[in-house]
Amino acid sequence: MNCLKCTYKLVLLSNRRQYKCALCSNLYPPKDIENREFQKLNELQKIQDVSNLNLQRKQKLNQIRDIKKALKHLFNGKPESYSKEYINQKSREWRAKHREQDLKRKREYNQRNKEVVNLRCRIRNYRVRQGQLALELSEDLDSPITIPSLC
Ligand SMILES: [Zn+2]
Repeated sequence: MNCLKCTYKLVLLSNRRQYKCALCSNLYPPKDIENREFQKLNELQKIQDVSNLNLQRKQKLNQIRDIKKALKHLFNGKPESYSKEYINQKSREWRAKHREQDLKRKREYNQRNKEVVNLRCRIRNYRVRQGQLALELSEDLDSPITIPSLC
């Protein structure tokens, strides 16, 4: 609650049942101040409501747009630009055209995700090693069992 003249904070004088400005000493009846506070609160509430409504409307419009798009795809089929092959082809073309940028992007990604990249690399190595071991084992099984002679 602030003074109407100087906007300084008001204090409630309990013995006189009035609000007083500590700066300009103006006095206000409590009803006036409380009404003003109520109006201010109402105003704020109204602004909040309008912004909430706008947000809801926007969400609703987005939903409708998505539904329209889905229906269109359902009846007309998805456009070519949605297919995985098309997207892959386009990104391959982009990478070929922007080689430097692509390398920079990859370098930055690797820098940012060092641990994940290292982990993936280790997993790949383990898989390769596992494959080699399996191959060696299967070769061992194919060959006749030889018992080392004890001389
Ligand atoms: Zn004042």
